[in-house]
Amino acid sequence: MNSATQEIPAILGGTPCFPKGPPEWPFADSAISQVLREAQETGLWGKYHGPCSQQLQQELAAFHETEEVILCCSGTVAIELALRGLGIGTGDEVILAAYDFEGNFKNILTVGATPVLVDVDSQNCNLDLNLLEQAITASTKCILVSHLHGGLVPMQAVMELARKREIPVIEDACQIPGAKIEGHTAGSSGDIGILSFGGSKLLTAGRGGAIMTSSPQIAQRIRLYSFRGNEAYPLTELQAALLIPQLKTLHSQNQKRQENVTYLLQQLGDQSGLTSLCQANPTSETDSTPGYYKLGFQYSSEYFAGLSRELFCTCLQAEGIALYPGFRALHTIHSRRRFRQTDALPVATACDQNLVVLHHPVLLTEHNNMDLIASAVTRIQQHAEEIMQMSTSGKLDSRYKKSEDHSFE
Ligand SMILES: *Cc1c(COP(=O)(O)O)cnc(C)c1O
Repeated sequence: MNSATQEIPAILGGTPCFPKGPPEWPFADSAISQVLREAQETGLWGKYHGPCSQQLQQELAAFHETEEVILCCSGTVAIELALRGLGIGTGDEVILAAYDFEGNFKNILTVGATPVLVDVDSQNCNLDLNLLEQAITASTKCILVSHLHGGLVPMQAVMELARKREIPVIEDACQIPGAKIEGHTAGSSGDIGILSFGGSKLLTAGRGGAIMTSSPQIAQRIRLYSFRGNEAYPLTELQAALLIPQLKTLHSQNQKRQENVTYLLQQLGDQSGLTSLCQANPTSETDSTPGYYKLGFQYSSEYFAGLSRELFCTCLQAEGIALYPGFRALHTIHSRRRFRQTDALPVATACDQNLVVLHHPVLLTEHNNMDLIASAVTRIQQHAEEIMQMSTSGKLDSRYKKSEDHSFE
């Protein structure tokens, strides 16, 4: 045990492990500074489209081995356009995991279709392949698959099943650009792949998204829908210019994140009360490396004297660590009239209550910061009863009484 673990947790008045708090994203980058300088000089910042958008489209297409790339203003819009590109509307059903990004559920409603929720895998908390077939009906027009929190959905098996039933698949790779799934770049296995360039994402232009497909019909339908005498959901030329240099460093950054995740999980060990989702991916081949927009864990309160997940997150936030509760499960926050479910969704319900996610920027920093995160967890574990007592008697430092809403998009 190193000495740091014996120190008093920040929530009880000790010095935080990271006194400056979590690193801000995006990091300073000379390539980005140069793009911004040049954009100012050339007037590129005011352009609708141009060579940068074209270059970005070409590079994304080559990287994902798809024919068509449509750039747009957000990942959320990209999913909606993908649904429209498939011609999905009233009376249709779209299958998705009950634990997923809320915008995906809302998009299905937006186009007039009905979300059909299936449960998630008990190990990696992503869509459970074994429950997919029983959710399919004559009205199923699409399967929407997201890879979340370091988890991967086995795309080969999903595509095999979907092709047999002639159901198109949208693969939401917003959280894992450049990740590999069974030998393929994430987002390239589905009939449509989706990326987000939102401000907190691994590839960022502050906002933005992309739709990738090899179907000219789908691409054409999306272009027709989006064009209102002008593009209604554009990515700007400046945003495209900012993304191009990031594609060059994505691979090395993904590698660095992977190394840090591997090291962090080693340091945490298997008695930390945190079980990572990425160690249990049910992919069929070894050529898979997840992405880490948020590193997800199942939290076990019994390792922490019964501390609630929310209080545990507050404790780590007090240490300067960006750890938050995961998504709400979709069936717990939406009226039953809005969706159909094929079973009781017990695993998604558990995920709703016990997932925690570590925001990615720290994963691009030095190894010793992983040691600090692991020691912060140990510190909370060692003082869990005391924290519990302080909490129940209302004596926690007032700064930490109420967990603020730090949710990311
Ligand atoms: C961020 C995200 C989106 C939406 O992207 P925005 O660009 O923020 O609209 C969609 N799906 C998943 C899984 C995401 O993480």
